[in-house]
Amino acid sequence: MRRSRYLLLLLSIGMLIGSVGCSGAQDSTDGSNEPAGEILETSEDQETEVQNGINEADDVQEREEEWQEIDPEELGVDELGQVMVLMYHHIREPEAEWSRTPDNFRQDLENLYQQGYRPLRLEDYATGNITTPPGKTPVVLTFDDGNQNNFNMIEDESGEWIIDPDSAVGILMDFHEKHPDFMPHATFFINGGTPFGQKEWVDYKLNFLVDNGMDIGNHTATHLHLGEADAATIQRELGRILQLVSEYVPDYDVNTFALPFGSRPKDEALWSYLVSGEHEEVSYHHVAVLEVGWDPYHSPYHEDFDGSRIRRVRASETKVDGVGMYDWMSTFESGSRIRYISDGNPDVVTIPKERVDHLSSDISEESKRTY
Ligand SMILES: [Zn+2]
Repeated sequence: MRRSRYLLLLLSIGMLIGSVGCSGAQDSTDGSNEPAGEILETSEDQETEVQNGINEADDVQEREEEWQEIDPEELGVDELGQVMVLMYHHIREPEAEWSRTPDNFRQDLENLYQQGYRPLRLEDYATGNITTPPGKTPVVLTFDDGNQNNFNMIEDESGEWIIDPDSAVGILMDFHEKHPDFMPHATFFINGGTPFGQKEWVDYKLNFLVDNGMDIGNHTATHLHLGEADAATIQRELGRILQLVSEYVPDYDVNTFALPFGSRPKDEALWSYLVSGEHEEVSYHHVAVLEVGWDPYHSPYHEDFDGSRIRRVRASETKVDGVGMYDWMSTFESGSRIRYISDGNPDVVTIPKERVDHLSSDISEESKRTY
């Protein structure tokens, strides 16, 4: 886990340079996507991987020293505090219930950054591998439906194909470049067909996400309302996304799922298929199943955390009735809900001693620290 994370960090720096232009990969209109794919496999990347081994050892030591020095009380560390899993859909004009404008999305990132939030991968949140730096709060960014405005390629004046700087991925990469300690971690929940539109770019886009610390999540093949679905339908809808992704990114494991419309099958006996199942010899296992509403969710170390029922917060200010991201950020500020504040060490859960009763029984004595 750690190794791949640091590789991603270094790769993302390389890809920032790469993302400026796609070397005229689309000069012709034949729709070939091969040149774009090749950008991802340069010898520079291989060198980075070699150096990464050395950097990683240094980094572990550095982080452990840093952790020894932190004063949890002074930083207000609470690893039983809650986490916002933000839900975005379109990034486009005008601002509306399911659309955030590019400028408002940039402002969201700026506000999160200024208030001490740092993106964490959904998988790391759901599995309790919280690497957020000391004193900071993890936040999980998610985008539903694989809209083209989430990841769009455009041709600039010189004829080069670039990532649209107003698309979600363009904005995230740009923000990360300006704030290197704000990783571009986000999960894009896709449906079947042509994720993010632009058929000739699907290969490039899916690989770009994975190579830059972003994730591809499952949102069913046909954006199906699962209320009346039977076991075979659920497994087909979910399995087909794994089949699709494996055509482009063979080693990538899709292991998170956002329920279309936030709807579960009415028959509770079928809920286990939301987490794991099989279709045409493809099996899936989701470490996180995300709902649609409406508030920050438990720390993964909390006794009530359930990875198959993670609630999200609407990242919007329109028609949210007091349950949008800014409402919750103020609620955290006021102290009427407690926000997760990291100790920086994913292997130790640090909490104020008066909260120890709420700790999940999965947390061993050795990995627990109270103050
Ligand atoms: Zn959707």
